[in-house]
Amino acid sequence: MRAVLDHVGIAVGDITAALAFYRDALGLEIEAPEDVPTQRVRAHVIPTGESALELLEATAPDSPIARFLQKRGPGLHHITLRVDDIAAALTHLRARGVRLIDEQPRPGAQSALVAFIHPSAAHGVLVELTQARPRTTTLNAKRHQLGDLSLVALHDGLFRLDGGAMFGVVPRTLWAAQSPPDDRNRIQLATRPLLVEADWGRLLIDCGIGDKMDAKQRDIYAIDRQHPLDQALAAEGLSDADIDLVLATHLHFDHFGGATVRRGGRIEPRFERARYMIRRGEWHDATHPHERNRASYVADDFVPLESSGVLDLFDDDQSIRPGVRVVRTGGHCPQHQIVFIESAGQTAVFTADLIPTAAHIRDAWIMGYDLYPMDTLAFKKQFIRESIDREYLIFFEHDPVVAAGYIRERDGRRFVDQVL
Ligand SMILES: [Zn+2]
Ligand SMILES: [Zn+2]
Repeated sequence: MRAVLDHVGIAVGDITAALAFYRDALGLEIEAPEDVPTQRVRAHVIPTGESALELLEATAPDSPIARFLQKRGPGLHHITLRVDDIAAALTHLRARGVRLIDEQPRPGAQSALVAFIHPSAAHGVLVELTQARPRTTTLNAKRHQLGDLSLVALHDGLFRLDGGAMFGVVPRTLWAAQSPPDDRNRIQLATRPLLVEADWGRLLIDCGIGDKMDAKQRDIYAIDRQHPLDQALAAEGLSDADIDLVLATHLHFDHFGGATVRRGGRIEPRFERARYMIRRGEWHDATHPHERNRASYVADDFVPLESSGVLDLFDDDQSIRPGVRVVRTGGHCPQHQIVFIESAGQTAVFTADLIPTAAHIRDAWIMGYDLYPMDTLAFKKQFIRESIDREYLIFFEHDPVVAAGYIRERDGRRFVDQVL
């Protein structure tokens, strides 16, 4: 069995005094607390590199932490080892006669599965096993019915971007716990274009990175083409020729690289029957890049659309098709837009680079790439409030694990209730 130290749990009686030591005196960053209702415990996680400290506070008199404090006072409560397959680990231990507290894994903090080994078997230490939420996933197309509209979260492979640039002013100690960086400080990201199927046709929102990059670019961005858009469409019984309309949230290469393909020596529109809808201001910005955004725009992704006569530029926020409308957010780039999809009183929103992954649901977790981060903040604060209150289904274009979910809030802590 392979196991790594995940965290050390410390039972605290007086959380204010404990924070005064761990946060103020030691100067460690502490994450927002998380309640574990099944244990009647509130956990304050302190990331420390690959592992973490976890300050445990009882939330009810019958909490195991309250009983521990009564019997032994504050101090080391448990250590947690992370294993790849917790069910297999428990079977392995049972076969060797190890006394367990939990015969079956159960849900713990941060949506991980956990199980405890009895301290008598571990020389006086309470040992917890945990199986982390998978950090990466095999991409597959995921379908959701929204009233009369069928939504399919497609995929166009994986790539990596610098973790610091993805989280802006957020310290690495905080984001690395959610998105572990590789040895080049890059984190795993997906591209997930969204297909909307309706009686008026098939609309594709963004279209992934595509296949035009050279070897050097593929290395810089760790482009992984094992699960490209063709495969996602084929899994739904579709091909490029079934797409009627392609809509761009903005023209950055990780959103619109898939709009064109190299055929012979030429670069041509990829979806042979489709019209391509792009906001006029974004078209202008992409065709007039400056030093700060030059790396994000690749002319071959969009210029050939114009010469082929398949381009439809539009000016303002508007309805694109029945149930589909665009709203400009600014922030990430001045003309960045998100897409509201509405049917039968339900709303889904394709948030593009406003909320690129589920880790970005906190207001201040804003990408360093954004040209106008204070504009992002203003739009995002109001939008996320509205998403929670009105239960919008949020599509995360770059999350490698969660394609879509509801943002919810409990005891002041936000989390994503995964749907796809
Ligand atoms: Zn972008
Ligand atoms: Zn992006």
